[in-house]
Amino acid sequence: MNVLVTGGAGFIGSHFVKSLLLDDDIAKVTVLDALTYAGHVENLGKAFLDPRLSFVHGSILDGVLVEQVMAAGQTHVVHFAAESHVDRSLQAGGPFVQTNVMGTQVLVDAASRHQVERFVHVSTDEVYGPLAEGMATEDSPLLPTVPYAASKAASDLIALSAYRTYGLGVCVTRSSNCYGPAQYPEKIIPLFATRLLRGEPVTLHGRGEHVRNWLHVADNCQGIGAVMRGGVPGEVYNIAGGTDLTNAQLTEMLLEVCGAGPELVTYVPDRRANDRRYAMDWSKIANQLGYRPERDLMTELAATVDWYRRNPERWAPLLQAPYPLAVPAGV
Ligand code: NAD
Repeated sequence: MNVLVTGGAGFIGSHFVKSLLLDDDIAKVTVLDALTYAGHVENLGKAFLDPRLSFVHGSILDGVLVEQVMAAGQTHVVHFAAESHVDRSLQAGGPFVQTNVMGTQVLVDAASRHQVERFVHVSTDEVYGPLAEGMATEDSPLLPTVPYAASKAASDLIALSAYRTYGLGVCVTRSSNCYGPAQYPEKIIPLFATRLLRGEPVTLHGRGEHVRNWLHVADNCQGIGAVMRGGVPGEVYNIAGGTDLTNAQLTEMLLEVCGAGPELVTYVPDRRANDRRYAMDWSKIANQLGYRPERDLMTELAATVDWYRRNPERWAPLLQAPYPLAVPAGV
């Protein structure tokens, strides 16, 4: 298998690349990454020692480059590259539409031309929008509320249209919230952990009542890998099975593992768009592809915080940096 991984220098993509390289049937892994504020080659670390890995610095929006990379014998594409932070999308949705929607179009066009066997489009539970009760199945309507989720929903449909129109072997994965080492410290777990480790306060919206399902990044990678190998073209697979927590409960756990007190938690009024609860039924991937999440939240949360404790050089400089709105290379 020759696998092109877009966004492979980001959080989930880099974990996925490392998991791929553990398998003997992987002949070549090519990472295509624009190295926006969220992408760091350090995330790939020792993977660079593996001669099967090559890295291409560039944007999925660069049609000429994408054509060149796709023509180099890719059999599989796993597409992670995206603008991924909801809060940034509330400030400016444009880069989200550019990267997530237009970028996906460029990739599926090139993958269709080169008759790639399997194209896994990595998406999110947020496309289903908030659910007061029950769980979204793969057939539930797409009702995104925020610009990030809307751009991901649009990109899901673009990817699936390439299956219907050109017969490209597209599968879509939709996963719940991921956590683990080396996540950019703007997402809630690394943001809170890096603040609490420095004795700084953290802020919850409302009373911290929003519910998310927390899935370890390795479990998500296991699910994405199962879909890459055995997913049925044209199908969508929900990947969840982590732990449902309100943000207040998550914060309590983080206080405990960081050794911090409740006086560091402050509250601000909720923002206008803040989906109350996401929940997905993941029985399809479990029954059809044998997916089973294995990681225990409390154990892995402690291991994640420990990674931030031991590797300040990986995140402290990022906190100093201005908060740039990412403009992908090539645009
Ligand atoms: P991330 O922000 O950590 O990484 C995104 C990567 O994409 C970075 O390496 C960045 O440099 C790269 N990138 C951005 N624009 C690019 C472009 N134009 N061309 C090439 N590369 C580009 O994101 P993540 O958290 O690892 O998420 C990866 C994927 O998984 C995204 O598609 C996201 O929507 C999805 N997802 C994430 C979560 C989560 O909890 N993090 C949950 C569900 C789904």
